[in-house]
Amino acid sequence: MTRADDHVDADAHKDTEAGASENTLESYDPSSGALVAVVADMEAAAVSDTVVVARGAATWWAAQGFNGRRRHLTAWRKYMAAHSTEIIALIHRENGKPEPDAALELMLTLEHISWTAKNAGKVLGSQRRRTGLLTANFAARVDHIPFGVVGVIGPWNYPLYTPNGSIATALAAGNAVVFKPSEYTPAVAQWYVEAFARANPAAPEGILQIVTGGPAAGEALCTSGIDKLAFTGSAKTGEKVMATCARSLVPVVMELGGKDAAIVAADADIDAAAESIAFGAMGNAGQTCVGIERVYVERVVRERFLAALRRELDNVTPGDRPGASYGPMTMPSQIDVVRSHVSDAIERGADPVLGGLDSIGDRYIEPIVLLDPPHSAAAVQEETFGPTVTVTTVDSVDEAVELANDVRYGLAGAVFSRRHGLEIARRIDAGQVSVNSVLGFAAIASLPLGGRGASGFGRIHGPEGLHEFTRPRALAIQRFALPVNLLSLRRPGWLDRLLPRLIRWLYSH
Ligand code: NAD
Repeated sequence: MTRADDHVDADAHKDTEAGASENTLESYDPSSGALVAVVADMEAAAVSDTVVVARGAATWWAAQGFNGRRRHLTAWRKYMAAHSTEIIALIHRENGKPEPDAALELMLTLEHISWTAKNAGKVLGSQRRRTGLLTANFAARVDHIPFGVVGVIGPWNYPLYTPNGSIATALAAGNAVVFKPSEYTPAVAQWYVEAFARANPAAPEGILQIVTGGPAAGEALCTSGIDKLAFTGSAKTGEKVMATCARSLVPVVMELGGKDAAIVAADADIDAAAESIAFGAMGNAGQTCVGIERVYVERVVRERFLAALRRELDNVTPGDRPGASYGPMTMPSQIDVVRSHVSDAIERGADPVLGGLDSIGDRYIEPIVLLDPPHSAAAVQEETFGPTVTVTTVDSVDEAVELANDVRYGLAGAVFSRRHGLEIARRIDAGQVSVNSVLGFAAIASLPLGGRGASGFGRIHGPEGLHEFTRPRALAIQRFALPVNLLSLRRPGWLDRLLPRLIRWLYSH
């Protein structure tokens, strides 16, 4: 398996106690290389069996209604809060991020479960719709029907918060869920799934299940009979997942990578902007889909901004000790991507005003700031996913907006300006934009999350996310018969002759 190959030269295939051969995969602590967990590397047949169990549970789960589901989701949320120290320690060990960051991730996860449990009924309850003059004898309604079984494939960078955005929303909307976590963080996922069952011992098996494995298990999930797939991961994998799902017309939500820009306008609070951007760029070792990877700063405030950013980053160091600013690179192969982006940018004229190639170690990367790389550099155009940021000098906000939008990604962004923040934010072509902050949208559970272009499509979180996990069923209910019935083969001839006049009367003015 990829994870094992990255960390140790070990044979990942083990024999089970029963003697039957079962493939396994290991997860490792990215700080020390120590083994964290051994899980099954499930084959396609086992993945399909899980979906069959989910199908059985889906009917029961849908029948619980919004109130019943809210009780189960609330019990789950309370269980996780009560056992928070366990999961915080596990996230730290398996993903590598410092415990306080893991705690923040848990908090945001629970906030989203809370919101979705409370609001699903309000958002998805059956709605009355107005009818028109031609259908005045009808009542009209729209119901929001769960798909049935939703498959969720997740990444490792926020092993709880990110997949939860799809899972909690899909569950609250009435679907059973089968979750295939990243091969880098299966133990965190297992704890999260087991927490649901522990918190709801009377509920039938199969409402929320896990399937473990690498890409093959993910591919198997796409073709196992699920009714919808929510994928979170890289754009490259997203393309493959879409192609697999297309074979059986499984609809998809795609939450993919980003190359988010921050714009620092001349009227910004420069110290506050530098503080937020330092966090947005380096937090979680830069392994954040909505992290800041590019900054566009107006020339008149550039020197002040660079000085403030350096001050912010001077004492920022990665490590495994308490108080470390961020952890190691969770996926060792990403270190090569970071190195190639940094070296390409420097070779092509970027000034490494903080750090440089020497900042890149075997497991940890110190903060790197690259000034004025060419716009075509990989460090500007492609997701770096490390603790690096480019800073580009611009002569106007117009130029900043143009450059910020000129990449294939469109996940999120940030704008720093005292007077024009909202106005500039509305010109950023991305799914979500923070004004005078970074990542604010991720903590507001009522906001949708999603991207455009290579960042994907569809939405999770908020009312839009709840709608994503249901399909509408339109209902037209005839309350009484009219003397003349337009929807009949026995329509009288005089009515047919009247239709052109009726059209002119109704629609020509
Ligand atoms: P990845 O694309 O390598 O893997 C994601 C998941 O897809 C894993 O579970 C993996 O096993 C599975 N997978 C791989 N190949 C597959 C295939 N052919 N068929 C089915 N499943 C397959 O991504 P990653 O490295 O785990 O995560 C990092 C990426 O995720 C970054 O690009 C990051 O920006 C993105 N991300 C996006 C969001 C968002 O909300 N938009 C959130 C977090 C992370």
